[in-house]
Amino acid sequence: MSLQSTQVNQSFGFLLEATRRVGADVAALHAADVDKKGRFPAETLEALREAGVLSAAVPRDFGGAGCTLLELAQLCSTLSQSCGSSGMVLAMHYIQLGCIARHGLNSDFFQGYLRDVVKHQYLLASMTSEVGTYGDTRSSICAVERQGGRFVLNKDATTGSYCAYADAILVTCRREASAPASDQVLVLVRREDCTLTQTTSWDTMGLRGTCSPGFRLESSGSDHQIVPGSYADSSAQTMVPYSHILWGALWWGIAADAVGKSANFVRGQARQTPGTVPPTASRLAEVSMQLQTMKQNWQCAAQAFDAIAPDAAAQEELSSMGWALRLNNLKISCSEAAPQIVHRALQIVGILGYKNDSPFSLGRQYRDALSASLMISNDRIFAKNASMLLVFKDAP
Ligand SMILES: Cc1cc2nc3c(=O)[nH]c(=O)nc-3n(C[C@H](O)[C@H](O)[C@H](O)COP(=O)(O)OP(=O)(O)OC[C@H]3O[C@@H](n4cnc5c(N)ncnc54)[C@H](O)[C@@H]3O)c2cc1C
Repeated sequence: MSLQSTQVNQSFGFLLEATRRVGADVAALHAADVDKKGRFPAETLEALREAGVLSAAVPRDFGGAGCTLLELAQLCSTLSQSCGSSGMVLAMHYIQLGCIARHGLNSDFFQGYLRDVVKHQYLLASMTSEVGTYGDTRSSICAVERQGGRFVLNKDATTGSYCAYADAILVTCRREASAPASDQVLVLVRREDCTLTQTTSWDTMGLRGTCSPGFRLESSGSDHQIVPGSYADSSAQTMVPYSHILWGALWWGIAADAVGKSANFVRGQARQTPGTVPPTASRLAEVSMQLQTMKQNWQCAAQAFDAIAPDAAAQEELSSMGWALRLNNLKISCSEAAPQIVHRALQIVGILGYKNDSPFSLGRQYRDALSASLMISNDRIFAKNASMLLVFKDAP
């Protein structure tokens, strides 16, 4: 589908309201079916496209809304209160768009591509995982090969969320065949540049609608599609901060959805015994405190990120150990908090939350939240923090 750029209202207020509407009127209606069938939330993505939400991360100079990271996080947290899978798809799309918008602007190709994202509301996916490197995003086995202005890139990915439904995939790989595993670049592979062969299934406990099986990618295209600079920079300065903040926001949305259900349950109990406070209300007070702390955690990191000046010297700060530790801690604490909060909400609601066919059912939210600590394994992140803390002495 193609939108006229003049029809796309790119103010944050409009996009937030549109996302709220899509969440309530579309995503919430299909969330159970998406989860049950493990199918892509196509209706939700189509509605987001219609509203121009997919280009929220495109800078204003290229026709987008130029949303800050805090604003993008609000969009993801809003949508995930209705459907966690849809929220994760939107977050992963913004992460890829952020990499192009913040690292591709010296390239005519990427400037044009950003305008096309606004016009056509393209959906971008990511392929960082690889058979043989697994969760270590900072090393690749595959390499991009360039010849005569063209590239060839083949990759065996362990997990590729919604790759079969995306208009393009941002793929990590080694810079060239002789480069070491950590000397990586990002390549924008458009649907028409590649063949994708599904190699594994995606029949998971949660986030089933992200449709994330393994894929064998075979691609070729113009070498202008290689994002300028190194992935070491785009990872530290954009992919990691965007991922950990947007994931924190959408995991919060899943937890907030569960707490919202438990609050409705408690209010229902209160209505049955007017003049008394049901005992579950104290548990609700406790879990709402934990939910607020989680929100402040990702909001505060997003505000600090947005406050960093756009010039290269200031952006270098994002490659520091201080920022790496801060973002890693954010990821770990949000990914641990989300399932704990849903668990507490379940204790409030009781058996009606445990049942799959009750309006208070919390099964989907619980299963979705369990993916958080695995999506870039917390153990792997703790190990990185442990190494940094041997030399980094500032208090966190
Ligand atoms: C919902 C979802 C969507 C995803 N979407 C995508 C996508 O679109 N594109 C993509 O490329 N990838 C995607 N991934 C994959 C993700 O990025 C990681 O690659 C994947 O979660 C890591 O899988 P792993 O557990 O095998 O990895 P590993 O990190 O290799 O972990 C394997 C095991 O080793 C343990 N371990 C690892 N390192 C250490 C250590 N240092 N100390 C102790 N124990 C350790 C871990 O705890 C774990 O038990 C997605 C994952 C999820 C859950």
